[in-house]
Amino acid sequence: QVGSQVVDRKVDSVCPFCGVGCLITYNVKDEHIVSVDGRDGPANHGRLCVKGRFGFDYVHHDQRLTKPLIRKPGVPKDDGEAPRPSHWSEVFREASWEEALEFAAGKLRTLRDGHGPKSLAGFGSAKGSNEEAYLFQKLVRTGFQSNNVDHCTRLCHASSVAALLEGVGSGAVSNPVNDVAHAELVMVIGSNPTANHPVAATWMKNAAKNGTKIVLADPRVTDLGRHAWRVMQFKPDTDVAMLNALIHTVIEEGLADESFVRERADNFEALRQNVKAYSPEAMAPICGIPAQTLREVARAFAKAKGAMILWGMGVSQHVHGTDNVRCLIALSTVTGQIGRPGTGLHPLRGQNNVQGASDAGLIPMMFPNYQRVDDAGVHRWFEDFWGTRLDATPGYTVVEIMHKALADDSDPHKIRGMYVMGENPAMSDPDLNHARHALASLEHLVVQDIFMTETAWLADVVLPASAWPEKTGTVSNTDRMVQLGRRALTPPGDAKPDLWIIQEIARRMGLTWDYAGDECGVAAVYEEMRQAMHAAISGISWERLQRESSVTYPCLSEDDPGQPIVFADSFPTADGRVKLVPADIIPAAERPDADYPFVLITGRQLEHWHTGSMTRRATVLDAIEPLATASMNGADMESMQLAPGDVITVRSRRGEVAIHLRRDDGTPSGAVFIPFAYYEAAANQLTNAALDPFGKIPEFKYCAVRILRGGTP
Ligand code: SF4
Repeated sequence: QVGSQVVDRKVDSVCPFCGVGCLITYNVKDEHIVSVDGRDGPANHGRLCVKGRFGFDYVHHDQRLTKPLIRKPGVPKDDGEAPRPSHWSEVFREASWEEALEFAAGKLRTLRDGHGPKSLAGFGSAKGSNEEAYLFQKLVRTGFQSNNVDHCTRLCHASSVAALLEGVGSGAVSNPVNDVAHAELVMVIGSNPTANHPVAATWMKNAAKNGTKIVLADPRVTDLGRHAWRVMQFKPDTDVAMLNALIHTVIEEGLADESFVRERADNFEALRQNVKAYSPEAMAPICGIPAQTLREVARAFAKAKGAMILWGMGVSQHVHGTDNVRCLIALSTVTGQIGRPGTGLHPLRGQNNVQGASDAGLIPMMFPNYQRVDDAGVHRWFEDFWGTRLDATPGYTVVEIMHKALADDSDPHKIRGMYVMGENPAMSDPDLNHARHALASLEHLVVQDIFMTETAWLADVVLPASAWPEKTGTVSNTDRMVQLGRRALTPPGDAKPDLWIIQEIARRMGLTWDYAGDECGVAAVYEEMRQAMHAAISGISWERLQRESSVTYPCLSEDDPGQPIVFADSFPTADGRVKLVPADIIPAAERPDADYPFVLITGRQLEHWHTGSMTRRATVLDAIEPLATASMNGADMESMQLAPGDVITVRSRRGEVAIHLRRDDGTPSGAVFIPFAYYEAAANQLTNAALDPFGKIPEFKYCAVRILRGGTP
C-alpha cells in the first residue's frame, strides 16, 4: 500500500535523470507507475527532487514509439521542421522488426563494405545502462570496424576528463558529493546544483548550516548563493584569470603545502613561474572580483582543514575548458587539499549514466576503462579479448562526426551512415542548423529511441526502444557508484529492450555474439564488461549487485567495500604523482562586438532534463515549466525597456530564436541565459561549435548574440 492506494508491486531502481543517482522505488498498479518513492541510497538517503519524484509518467505517454518505422520513399528529410505527431504517418510507415532490422543493418553493412569502416559512426547514450553502452561501443568497434563512437560526454565533461587524466590519472571524482559534510570550505564553480543536481545541493546546504563555508564562483548567481559565505560572480570567460589569481595568492603568501607538493606533484616550478603574472590586483579588472576577495578566498581555501571543489559545465564548456580544470587541479594540489575526507575534486556528472557510459568505452579514443585505442599493448589485449581485428586510430568525436557527414564526396573519411541510440544530437549539438543539415545529409540514419525525437525525425529507420523502468541494468553515478535498476514494466506495443536491438543489429552486421540469460543476457554482458575494465570494478560481480544494489569503485575484490575517497597515498599516473600544468588566458572563440553585443549562456533548469524528450512529456514537470524562457538581468531589461513576459528575438551569426523573457538578477549584465530543452526556441541554434583542442568540447557557455524586441515564439 502507498498512501491510500494499494499497488500491485514495488520495484527498486535508480532515478533516470541526473548523475546524483538517487535510489528509488517504482510503485506499479495495473502496469502503470503510479508514484515513486526515494530509497535510502548512499547518494540520497531517501531524498528526491521534483524530477525524481514526479517525472515518471513520460513512460506512459501516448507518443511512445511502439512500432518500427521506415521512411516512405521520396519523402525528403526536412531539417527545419518539428516532428509533429500529426505528420508522422506522412513521413514514415510501420514495418515489422525483421524488415526494419534488415533495412537498418543491411545499409550499414553496404556502406561499410563499399566505402570502408570510417564511413560509419555511432552515438551511444548516457541515459542507457552500462551494459548497453558497453555493447554499443563493441558493436561499432568490431562490427563497423572503426572507433567512430561517442556520446554526450563530449558535450559536458570531456575537457574535465582530459585534464583529470593528464593531471591525476583518473577522469572520475576523488570524493563523493556528500563528503562536503567533512569539508571546512566548499568551492562550487560553474555549477547550478539546486537546479541540475538538486539532491546533491541539499548536502551542500546542510553543510553550510553546520558551518562549512560555501564559495560560489559563477558568472550567474544561482540559488546556492543564498547559502554561500562568499559569492564570486566573475565575468563570463575569465575562469583562468580568477583561478590563477587564487593560486598566485597561495604561493606568494607562503600558504602552499610544500611537503605535499614536494612529495606528490611534478612541475610545480613551471606553475609558480606562470602564475607570477596573475596577481589578484592585476586580475581583478579582468575577472571582476575585487583583489581583496580573491586573496580572502585563497587564504581560506589553503588554510581550511579540508577544502573541496565541485564544478559543472560552466567550467568545462569553453574552448579553454581543459585549462580551467588544470587550474582547479593545481589549486587543490598546491594547497594539499586532495586525498583526504572533505577535500578533492568533483566534476558533477550530468546525465544519470554519463560516468558509466564513459567508463564502458563509449568514447572514440578509449576502450573500456580509459585504455587508449592507440596503445599497442591495450590494442592487442582487446583484439584477443574480442577475437577480431580492431582499428588502432582514435575515432572522430561528436562535433567532428557532424563535420565529416558534410565532407566532400572525395574525402575517404566522409561519414555516410550513422546509428544513434538514445541521443538527440538534433537538439543537443552546437550550431543546430549545421548539425541538423549534417544528419539530414546522411545516406543512412538509424535511430533507436522511445519517442520521435528531433533526431529520429531525420532518420531512415526508427527502432522503438525501452524506457529505463522497462529494463534491468546498471548505471554509475557521479560518485563512482555502480547501481542496479530493475525492470518494473514491459515495453509498450512492439517496443523492445535496447540490448535486444543492439544484438540483432550486430548479428546482421556479421557478428556472432552469444549473451545467454534473462533480460537479453544483461548479466553476461555485465560480466564481460567487468573483465574488460580490469581492476576498476573487478570486485563488483553481478551477483553482488543483486544483494547490495550500490557499490563504489575502485573495488578490487568481492570483500572490498569500495573506495569512495581515492588518492590517499598516490595518484594513478605513470609516476604516482600529480602533473601540474600551467594555463594562460585564452579568450572565447567569439567575443561580443557592436553587431552582437550580448553573451549567450546556455544550460538547464530544474524541471527539464537535457533536450526535454522525457521531462516535457512528464505531466507535472511540463505543467510547472511549459514554456521556453530567456533570463536577463533587471537592469539590462530596464535599459532596453523590456518587461517580464515580453517576447524577444535572440540572434547569433548562426540562427535566431524568439522566446519569452523572464527577469533573473543573477544573470550578469550583458548576458542572456537560455535552457536548451525546448524545440520551439532551441538555444543550440545560436551556439558556436568552436572546440576545446584537448577535450573537443564545444563552447556552449559563451557566444555573441544580439537581442531584439518582439518576434513570434
Ligand atoms: Fe533524480 Fe538527480 Fe533529482 Fe536525484 S537529484 S531525484 S538523481 S534528478
